[in-house]
Amino acid sequence: MINDVIIIGGGAAGLCAAVYLKQKLPSLSIRILESQSRVGKKLALTGNGRCNITNKNILLSSYHGKDVSFAEYALTKYDRFISESFFESIGVSFAFEGDKGYPASFQAGSVVDCLRFAVEELDITLNLETKVTNIQVSNGNYKVIADNLSFLARNVIVASGLLSGGDRLGCDGGVLSILKKAGFDTVDTKPAIVQVKTETDIVKQLKGIKIDALVTLKCDGKTVRQEFGETLFCDYGLSGPPVLQVSRGIDTRRKCEIGLDLMSDTDYNTLLSNLENRAKSLKNRNLDEFFTGMLNKRLGQVIIKSAGLKLSESVSSLKIQDLKKIASLLKNFSFNVMGTTGYINSQVTAGGLKTDGFNSKTMMSKNAKGLYAIGEILDIDGDCGGFNLQWAWSSAMCAADAIIKENK
Ligand SMILES: Cc1cc2nc3c(=O)[nH]c(=O)nc-3n(C[C@H](O)[C@H](O)[C@H](O)COP(=O)(O)OP(=O)(O)OC[C@H]3O[C@@H](n4cnc5c(N)ncnc54)[C@H](O)[C@@H]3O)c2cc1C
Repeated sequence: MINDVIIIGGGAAGLCAAVYLKQKLPSLSIRILESQSRVGKKLALTGNGRCNITNKNILLSSYHGKDVSFAEYALTKYDRFISESFFESIGVSFAFEGDKGYPASFQAGSVVDCLRFAVEELDITLNLETKVTNIQVSNGNYKVIADNLSFLARNVIVASGLLSGGDRLGCDGGVLSILKKAGFDTVDTKPAIVQVKTETDIVKQLKGIKIDALVTLKCDGKTVRQEFGETLFCDYGLSGPPVLQVSRGIDTRRKCEIGLDLMSDTDYNTLLSNLENRAKSLKNRNLDEFFTGMLNKRLGQVIIKSAGLKLSESVSSLKIQDLKKIASLLKNFSFNVMGTTGYINSQVTAGGLKTDGFNSKTMMSKNAKGLYAIGEILDIDGDCGGFNLQWAWSSAMCAADAIIKENK
């Protein structure tokens, strides 16, 4: 039997493509090959179990890749409203918190359930525990090999994701290696939206403290990205939304550092004069209590020590040079970056299949007719905030409509 479409990967993009295809053209025979014992393992964990399914501001500036303009057509034509009506059709309503879209149930598992029900209702063939190990061309069709089994198809949609989340979620990047061997150009991968490892002597002392900060990533002295938000000190380094957001810019071949502006709404000179006034009014205290009431106590004490001062000294002993050092530390509390916590902890993988080998209006390979790639395996990744799932939906529907056009 020759399938009209084989979809490699029953994750976000693969499930969306399968259901959308079958809804629009029920005569198509569609088979999903999924390596895991159930579909959508990763999708069920998204958004801390709430599934940040889209964003009201889907702008290209929130996406990355060697040629990010590749994503423009699909993201514009298959925007969040199109996604919303697709999801409505399978029982998932959207709800928004600010710009971030979620299923109205706020349960990621319910998104997987509704996609799974639709797969069953639409008679889409699903092969679980079927790990694709090769893709070959055979008499004008594709032969997709999964261990001892092989399947023929007129069209193949590669929706196997990349490495984020790791093996436990079926994400080993194996299909990228298969395609690379077959001659597809790729862009080196790296984890993105991930916690950052820093030198640990200071962060260990601050473990568990959360503070609003303007986070700046610099590599070789140049500012790469700045984000504001709640920053978390961990025993290995830094986490929290702004840190995850800037993490994509880390280049392990360059000297990178993260600077925290702990007083981002006050400029340096104003801060210095505030500190001078504080030192005058609190002159009877010791330095261990200098920041009490202004800053997290443990953080304040670490700042004092980092300025080379003793906690047991009196505030009255502070000189202007000391206050300048303290002000500088508050404006730029910086940490050398040692790396990230890796693919297993990352939400998305940057890099993947080079997009210039694919048609941005159809997601089809320019050299392998009938072979499509969607979702994370392409060299497109988004910021934290629903952008990656929106890319999965948009690219999936784009490829599906192209296949429907070819088969009508
Ligand atoms: C913890 C976590 C939280 C996240 N939260 C959000 C969020 O809230 N909002 C957001 O926009 N993005 C989020 N993301 C990112 C988002 O989940 C991914 O970008 C998205 O799932 C990518 O979709 P995909 O279909 O391309 O890949 P995946 O969803 O990874 O699906 C790929 C599928 O292919 C299967 N597969 C892989 N190799 C093979 C093979 N050889 N043979 C057969 N099957 C194979 C895998 O088992 C998997 O089921 C999060 C990611 C993580 C890890």
